[in-house]
Parts: sequence; structure tokens; C-alpha cells
Amino acid sequence: MTEKVNLKMTKKPSDNIDNSVYINVKDFLIKGPVGDTETIPIHETFEKSLDPENTLRSFEGSIKLTLLEEEILAEFSVEYLAKTICVRCLKRFDREGSLAFERVYLLGRRTAADGELIVGKDFQIEVGGPILEEINFDIPMKPLCKTDCQGFNK
Ligand SMILES: [Zn+2]
Repeated sequence: MTEKVNLKMTKKPSDNIDNSVYINVKDFLIKGPVGDTETIPIHETFEKSLDPENTLRSFEGSIKLTLLEEEILAEFSVEYLAKTICVRCLKRFDREGSLAFERVYLLGRRTAADGELIVGKDFQIEVGGPILEEINFDIPMKPLCKTDCQGFNK
């Protein structure tokens, strides 16, 4: 753990399957006084099946980290592109969305309880899970290719 690590998005080779996305926050923790912030750009392109109807194609944006006494506050700003199916005409179409949400990563914890996120022993925080979770919430249950889609009728 002596190598210099910059704050940037990385994927662990072993995690290619589940698309976990990590940011190493070691430098941020060492450098920062409490209250320090750092904004990290994120971008990812892949074909990730969210469910049978929806496929995530890419996301990009930034994560602003703020160092607090016992946690890191992460403010996400994410734009995504997903392929989905119109419930009326059953055509596939690209849906763009834009999201802003927060997560808290607890410091000094070895294990995370349900629903908690932690800064791991290896100084990695996992950001892919929260992003996918929020995108899943954002895609409507009954997507329409356009608001006045007439379905199969003219
Ligand atoms: Zn339609």
C-alpha cells in the first residue's frame, strides 16, 4: 500500500462481472482536514442488464466527496443512458436521465450493517452499487417512448 494512488475511478479486475466501481480515497483521507472536499469525475460505458426490459448503456458525472469526522459524504451527480421498452408500442428506445443523490461512507468500520456503506480497509469506496440502485429507481415502471405514444394504433 505504498504506491501513490490518485483519486480516480477504478474497476477491480475480479469485479468485471458485477460492474462494481471503486474509488480509492486514501490520499483524500491522509491529506484532508475535516471539511475538505474533492470532486471526482466518473464515466462508464457498458451493457448492463438491469432487468429483462432495461439495459444500462452508460453513465457519467461526478462525485463530490466531503471529509467529515466519522464519515465521507458523497454527493453524486449522474447522467445515464438506458435502453428500455415502451409499454405501449413495445419499441426499444434510449432513455436519458439525470440524478442527484447522496451516500455516506463510514470511516473506521470493518463491516457494514444492512444498508450501510463503509470505507474499506483498502481505502476503497464502492460507488457502482449506489449508482445502479438510483438509476433503477429512476426508470419508470411503465416507460413511454414519447408521452403521446399511440401504441399499435395510428
Ligand atoms: Zn411507444
